[in-house]
Amino acid sequence: MLTVSGLETFYGPSQALFGVDLSLQQGQVLALMGRNGMGKTTTIRSIMRLTPPKRGTVHFAGQDLAGLQAFRVARLGLGLVPEGRRVFAPLSVEENLRATAREAEDTGGWTLQRVYALFPRLRERAGQAARTLSGGEQQMLAVGRALMTNPRLLILDEATEGLAPLIRAEIWSAIAALKAEGLSILVVDKHLKDLLPLADACVVLEKGRSVWAGSPQTLQGDADLQHRYLGV
Ligand code: ATP
Repeated sequence: MLTVSGLETFYGPSQALFGVDLSLQQGQVLALMGRNGMGKTTTIRSIMRLTPPKRGTVHFAGQDLAGLQAFRVARLGLGLVPEGRRVFAPLSVEENLRATAREAEDTGGWTLQRVYALFPRLRERAGQAARTLSGGEQQMLAVGRALMTNPRLLILDEATEGLAPLIRAEIWSAIAALKAEGLSILVVDKHLKDLLPLADACVVLEKGRSVWAGSPQTLQGDADLQHRYLGV
């Protein structure tokens, strides 16, 4: 469903990615891993064309994304939950969700009710301004907002960062539910104990390069590999 090959991406003159390859099969959860600053967020930004790569290719559902503007990429069905949440602070929960809604409620896509069923806390706070939500609730809202675009691939960049364990668990169980529904998901997250059991495949980045790809079982069983590339 997603094939990334030879990505090289720059911020001005400074090169951040030196060759990233990954592929994600439909219905899979792919864990994109690596220590701080190794290029995970840049890889995501390159895929979404928020920071277009200088070299390399990204194909999504058979289509080459080269030359597309970021909003077109999103419309093809890539739903991003960016690092740091970025909900619309002055708007209510419901307004945030309606702002990205794609389709009428009868087309089988995501609806307010479906998001509220996934995150009951959001239903309780439907009228509350997003800026008054807790960090975890804002994160749920960010996920809900991405879902309202009816993504075929959901991309989560550090969705559980800085959250208390209980609320983190709520986010992970929502991700598990989405996976069970067959949604394809690309996840960057530092909580490997939560991430690895959900992942179908892993890719590890080191200094802007993909240096290892394999199964979560292999990674879990290889303390050396974890130490070398993940600092665990
Ligand atoms: P983290 O886990 O800390 O978020 P990451 O793996 O997501 O790290 P990136 O944020 O993609 O890593 O950063 C990769 C490299 O690109 C780093 O060297 C970083 O300093 C650099 N970089 C990231 N954003 C910018 C930017 N806006 N301008 C210049 N350099 C940047």
